[in-house]
Amino acid sequence: MGVAVRLDPAVESFVAAPVRRMLIDGQWVESASGRSFETVNPATGEVLARVAEGDAEDVDRAARAARRAFDRGDWPRMAPRDRERVLVRLADLIERHATELAQLETLDNGKAIAESANVDVPAAADTFRYYAGWVNKMTGDTIPADPAFFNFTLREPVGVCGQIIPWNFPLLMAAWKLGPALACGNTVVLKPAEQTPLSALRLGELLLEAGVPPGVVNVVTGFGPTAGGAIVRHPLIDKVAFTGSTEVGKEIHRTSADTLKRVSLELGGKSPNIVFADADVEGAVRGALAGVFFNQGEVCCAGTRLFVEATLHDQFAEAVATAASGMKQGPGIDPETQIGPLVSAEQLERVAGYLDIGKREGATAIAGGARNTAPGLERGYFVQPTVFTGVRNDMRIAREEIFGPVVAVIPFRDESDAVLQGNDTLYGLAAGVWTRDVSKAHRVARALRAGTVWVNCYNVFDVTAPFGGYKESGYGRELGRYCLDLYTQTKSVWMRI
Ligand code: NAP
Ligand code: MG
Repeated sequence: MGVAVRLDPAVESFVAAPVRRMLIDGQWVESASGRSFETVNPATGEVLARVAEGDAEDVDRAARAARRAFDRGDWPRMAPRDRERVLVRLADLIERHATELAQLETLDNGKAIAESANVDVPAAADTFRYYAGWVNKMTGDTIPADPAFFNFTLREPVGVCGQIIPWNFPLLMAAWKLGPALACGNTVVLKPAEQTPLSALRLGELLLEAGVPPGVVNVVTGFGPTAGGAIVRHPLIDKVAFTGSTEVGKEIHRTSADTLKRVSLELGGKSPNIVFADADVEGAVRGALAGVFFNQGEVCCAGTRLFVEATLHDQFAEAVATAASGMKQGPGIDPETQIGPLVSAEQLERVAGYLDIGKREGATAIAGGARNTAPGLERGYFVQPTVFTGVRNDMRIAREEIFGPVVAVIPFRDESDAVLQGNDTLYGLAAGVWTRDVSKAHRVARALRAGTVWVNCYNVFDVTAPFGGYKESGYGRELGRYCLDLYTQTKSVWMRI
C-alpha cells in the first residue's frame, strides 16, 4: 500500500483472533452451526478477520436471553441514576479507546481515518452520553380525566428490540440504535452488516466493561436473509429498528406484520441539494462537495441531485468538478486520504454499473467516471469522485440511490421549478438549499418534502436534532427526544379515588 501507519496493538490482536465470536447472554460464543465468514479490508481486498456466522438458531438464543433480561433482569428495573451511570461509563470507554475504534472502523469499512476519528467515534460517544441524560428525565403525565378517578401515564420500555444496521457508519449506527433503546430500559438483539461486523463486536466488549448486564445487549453477526430475517420473524422480539436499503425495509415491514412488531425504518435517499444563483458560491461549492463525497458517498442523505440555477449551472459544475478531481483518494488508514474505497467488491460493481448507465443515458462525466486503479489502489474498491452533467431528473442516475461518490448536476429555471424537481423523487430523507435570500430559504425549506433540510450547510448532525425520512425514506425519527417515542410505550393507569 505504501502507507506506513502504526496500528494500535489492540487492533492487531482484535483482528488476529481465529474467529471473532459473537455476544449472546454475556458470553462470547461461536455460531451454533460452527460456521464463520470473512470480513475484508476494502482498501486492499485482503481478508481482515473471520467472524462467527450466526443464523436463526443463534438469533433464537439471543432473543431468549434478551427476553429473560427484559422480563426478569435488572436493566429495566434499576434506579435510573444507575442506568445513566452505565451509559456514561460506556461513553467514557469509547473515548478512551477512540484511536483503536477509529482504526478498526477504517480497516473494516474503508472510510478515511480523519472521518472515523473526528466524526464516527466521537459522535458515538456523544450519543450514549446524551441518552444517558434522558434516563431520569422521561416523565409521564397526570391527566385531567373524570374527577372520581386519578389517571396518569407511565412511560415504559417496548421490550426486546431487534436492531439491524448497515455498513456505512457501523459504530455510529450501533450507537444511534443502542443509546436510546438502552436509556429507555429495553434489551436488544443487534445485527451489524456482514461487511462491517468488527466495531459492533468491540463495542460489545465495552458494553460489558461498562456494566451492561448479560443478555441486555446481544450482538449476532451474520447475513441479512438468515440472521436479519430471523430477528424480524422472532415472536419474542417486540420491535425492529432498521437502517438500510428501501428494498429490504419494505420486506421487513411486510414480514414484521406476522408478529405485529413495532417497526422503525431509516431507508435510502436521493436528496436534492439546491443552489440558487444568489448563493455564496464558494460556500455552496464546498457544501456540494461535502454533501456528496463525505464517506465516499455512502451516506443515505447524500446530496446526490445537485440542482443549480441555470444562470450559474456551467460555472458551478466546473468548480465542483475541479475540486472533486483534486481530492486525495487512497486507503482510509492513510491520514492524508480524503476519500477512501467503497465498502465491498459488490458495492464497487454496483456503483461502476451506474457510471455506465449514466453514460448510456447521455450524461457526461466532467470529473471521474471510472474506477480508480492508480498504482497501489488496483486491488481496492476505489471509484473516482464523479460529477455528471447533462443529467435530467428522470434519468436512472437521478432517480436511483447509487451510494457512491457520484453526483448528478441538474439545472433549474426558478424557485418553483427547483421545488418541483427536488420533490420529484420517491425518497424524502434530506435536502439542501443555498441562497442569501432569507425569505426564499424559508419558503423552499417548507416546500421540500424531506425529514431534514439544511440551509447554507449540508450533512450537519447533532445527537440533539431529529433525523429520519418522509415518503419511501422510511418513518420514525432517530436522535433527540423524538427517538424516545420509538423505544417507549405509554401506559394509562386509572385509580378510583
Ligand atoms: P441492505 O441489504 O439493506 O443491508 C442493511 C442491513 O440489513 C444489513 O445488516 C443486512 O445484512 C440486513 N439485511 C439484508 N437483507 C435482510 C433481510 N431480508 N432481512 C433482514 N435484514 C436484512 O443494504 P446493502 O445490500 O448492504 O446495500 C444495498 C444498498 O442499500 C446500497 O447500495 C444503498 O443504496 C442502500 N443502503 C442504504 C443505507 C442507509 O443508510 N440508508 C445503508 C446501507 C445501504 P447483511 O449486510 O449482513 O446482508
Ligand atoms: Mg469489511
